[in-house]
Amino acid sequence: MGKVIAIDGPAGAGKGTLAKELAKKLGYVNIDTGATYRCVALEVLRKGISIDDTSKIIDISSNIKIDLLEDGTVLLNGEDVTKDIRSKDVTNIVSPISSIVKVRENMVNIQRNIALDKDVVMEGRDITTVVFPNAQYKFYLDASIDERARRRFEENKEKGINMTYEEVYNNIKDRDYNDMHKEVGALTRTDEQVYIDCTNMTVEEEIEIILKEINK
Ligand code: C5P
Repeated sequence: MGKVIAIDGPAGAGKGTLAKELAKKLGYVNIDTGATYRCVALEVLRKGISIDDTSKIIDISSNIKIDLLEDGTVLLNGEDVTKDIRSKDVTNIVSPISSIVKVRENMVNIQRNIALDKDVVMEGRDITTVVFPNAQYKFYLDASIDERARRRFEENKEKGINMTYEEVYNNIKDRDYNDMHKEVGALTRTDEQVYIDCTNMTVEEEIEIILKEINK
């Protein structure tokens, strides 16, 4: 196992931006684990499978091929789906899909394989607790729900994703609840994580805190 900087936290806290910048600075590989669950959700939508059809969803997650390239491109069975996995439809169903225990097992395996023998910054919901409980560095990135909704709304606008502020806010609120109440892999705060409330912070300030911890 290479070095692992594990970052967990709720939707919209800015884990993606932070992980990308941090990885660039340290020369590590950035791994966005949410993208793997989003790929399963996209495939469920494309195949017209009902969100209640657990066995078909598990089937998809067992046979899916996901590649996370170092430049941030996401390949699903070889196809570039970087943009498609951020759509409103995917965002609306990804959290319940990621609650299916067998889907989580499959995605955690994929995530560990991508990280194999590399120095990585990995972000998600259960990285510090399930995927890499022995990670050298563990962080929990948090922000108020209003600030997270505001950031995600602005980000969506830039990416051309059509969602009102209210839709973004409600989606984040639902995902928070669902992500914190999963049977397996729930988003949890632990004593081992360094807690960062970034509501009023810039990415540079977040990076400074993390680098200080790492260099302790
Ligand atoms: O991070 P992102 O918002 O793209 O993640 C999409 C969804 O995937 C989250 O709402 C969460 O339900 C799920 N997820 C997860 N475990 C992770 C990463 C994401 O359950 N490690």
